Amino acid sequence: MASHIVGYPRMGPKRELKFALESFWDGKTTAEDLQKVSADLRSSIWKQMSDAGIKYIPSNTFSYYDQVLDTTTMIGAVPPRYNWNGGEIGFDTYFSMARGNASVPAMEMTKWFDTNYHFIVPELGPEVKFSYASHKAVNEYKEAKAVRLGVDTVPVFVGPVSYLLLSKPAKGVEKTFDLLSLLDKILPIYKEVIAELKAAGATWIQFDEATLVKDLEPYQLEAFTKAYSDLESSCSGLNVIVATYFADIPTDAFKVLTTLPGVTGYTFDLIRGEKTLDLIKTSFPSGKYLFAGVVDGRNIWANDLAGSLSVLESLEGIVGKDKLVVSTSSSLLHTAVDLVNETKLDDEIKSWLAFAAQKVVEVNALAKALSGQKDEAFFAANAAAQASRKSSPRVNNESVQKAAVALRGNDHRRATNVSARLDAQQKKLNLPILPTTTIGSFPQTIELRRVRREYKAKKISEEEYVKAIKEEIFKVVQLQEELDIDVLVHGEPERNDMVEYFGEQLSGFAFTANGWVQSYGSRCVKPPIIYGDVSRPKAMTVFWSTMAQEMTKRPMKGMLTGPVTILNWSFVRNDQPRFETCYQIALAIKDEVEDLEKAGITVIQIDEAALREGLPLRKSEHAFYLDWAVHSFRITNVGVQDTTQIHTHMCYSNFNDIIHSIINMDADVITIENSRSDEKLLSVFREGVKYGAGIGPGVYDIHSPRIPSMEEIHDRVNKMLAVLETNILWVNPDCGLKTRKYGEVKPALENMVTAAKKLRAEL
Ligand code: GLN
Ligand code: ZN
Repeated sequence: MASHIVGYPRMGPKRELKFALESFWDGKTTAEDLQKVSADLRSSIWKQMSDAGIKYIPSNTFSYYDQVLDTTTMIGAVPPRYNWNGGEIGFDTYFSMARGNASVPAMEMTKWFDTNYHFIVPELGPEVKFSYASHKAVNEYKEAKAVRLGVDTVPVFVGPVSYLLLSKPAKGVEKTFDLLSLLDKILPIYKEVIAELKAAGATWIQFDEATLVKDLEPYQLEAFTKAYSDLESSCSGLNVIVATYFADIPTDAFKVLTTLPGVTGYTFDLIRGEKTLDLIKTSFPSGKYLFAGVVDGRNIWANDLAGSLSVLESLEGIVGKDKLVVSTSSSLLHTAVDLVNETKLDDEIKSWLAFAAQKVVEVNALAKALSGQKDEAFFAANAAAQASRKSSPRVNNESVQKAAVALRGNDHRRATNVSARLDAQQKKLNLPILPTTTIGSFPQTIELRRVRREYKAKKISEEEYVKAIKEEIFKVVQLQEELDIDVLVHGEPERNDMVEYFGEQLSGFAFTANGWVQSYGSRCVKPPIIYGDVSRPKAMTVFWSTMAQEMTKRPMKGMLTGPVTILNWSFVRNDQPRFETCYQIALAIKDEVEDLEKAGITVIQIDEAALREGLPLRKSEHAFYLDWAVHSFRITNVGVQDTTQIHTHMCYSNFNDIIHSIINMDADVITIENSRSDEKLLSVFREGVKYGAGIGPGVYDIHSPRIPSMEEIHDRVNKMLAVLETNILWVNPDCGLKTRKYGEVKPALENMVTAAKKLRAEL
């Protein structure tokens, strides 16, 4: 019985690649240094998998930045503005596309399916001249096979059809260009690579075609048949795996996939693919290999080995003993790297977890068990850990469970409608028209970060810490008063991260020291782990918010992170539905909202920056998700008085498809990112969507150091006024100011307030 890994994290157990990349970019180290660190990482990964006994070990899953950009590089699809002159593409051109250079900005980046990984979007038009411009895949194959390592790997590629489906048409041909028409042009390059791999001795090859799990049109599905028919003869002598992951595969896509010519086997995500299992049971083609993804590539939980084994045993009878291969549900890129480095976590919680390195061992243990060599001790330890997780009092909190279950199926909604509420609030707040505000955070200086770090490390006392943070809040309040902003914030100086800050104060959360997951390029995130029922032992923000409110007569916004965002930016428990966990967090935030209100805070912002991110891949699942996500948000503030104004904030402008859900959140005011795509957001309202709540589309982009002029902001708000009612419009930046410098923030906000005042005078 064999084992297979779809893909592996490339960053290294202690983010070695990140540091090597960043020091190379800073000019502190050479290209050779970077190559050396990378080669060491690759070889240790191959060695680890080979020592564990994995039969099908991936190569070419390493990347200096992104695997889609690697494909762009392989086929020489460099956009003309990077002035590449042909030949093998080197670091210069590669990193220019990834990060931009002094004269040209980077290519666009977007989320990889529903993960938090971002890829570089290929830009393709009729003019691109494809050529074989990066031998990376072949080099890595040879590197693994070289004398000392001797590992015969399975080179992994972004499949040709998914590559095109994930691309965007180049500038100028946006509306007219059919990306799939390029299939005939890129396949010859794939064929060259395949020929070289064959010559180097490769016997297996893997094409990742995860777009097959999306809702594809028939003509898109046909492209797969076309592509693999065309590749068939080049691949003869090679075993071809087509990999799918992240969701159930639709029936029509399953049919297409399992009849592709020249393909030896398929990987399926059996963690997220419950219906896929039925499809396999009823219609798996005979003679093909099934790479059964039973070990979760998207999470950090130890596998339920006994459960997986019984699924695998049921599949054995269908596909045949010699054709069943144990695998991961997706690449392990989306999980943390190695549990060995977690020294802060206690043994009990650790026994419940498996990061990438541990998942490799699980895959192999399952394969061995299937072939009659079950490691009884390993399985017994796993079963004991599963049992302890189920029954642990740290996981279970009966009163929280009951309260969350009681929420299901109910419609929690504030009793009064939004326009009446806004009237009641205005009587109390007495704000000018076009009120100004900011999103929450103010610049986080090195000094401020030092204070927080030293407090955490117990190097300064609580008293000193409170004093330092209080001074910072005072500075921020004073600045906003000087600027004459209407609704103030305290600046969030006590927060390192908008999810971590709350997770650390809630029960049911654990934090890792090295549980990093690549987000893009060298950037990684370290999601909290939600392992148990969530509750709030005590108030989390009331102390700072009331302190800040006492410094000013103007309304001071209480600042919270919403339940959906906390959920979507964490590793979530897999022993209950996501919505259940979300409801629990909602109840904790509800308590905080009510405590803030009691303490005299009249405006409370509940950020839902990541609400859209949780949208499932398949359209058929959108409604269900949006329903419980929006419900969770409403639960947080259903208990407040009409006069308490609830704000929410979102970090994207792609609203058109979920606008009704956003309205359904029933917030009093919503501030949203907008400045990078004015037209998109406003077009929703232009098309006649009824919107009665307050709305603050960001008037300038905080992601850039550029200072927007007064005129520019004035024009922008004027454009908004043409579409939105004057009395619902707010004036604010796009997002928090945390990453900016005061030298940028002061003049930008000054221009923003001046523009608002000028507009008020003109109305
Ligand atoms: N209140 C948070 C801040 O201002 C919001 C951040 C976000 O939307 N990502 O930093
Ligand atoms: Zn934001």
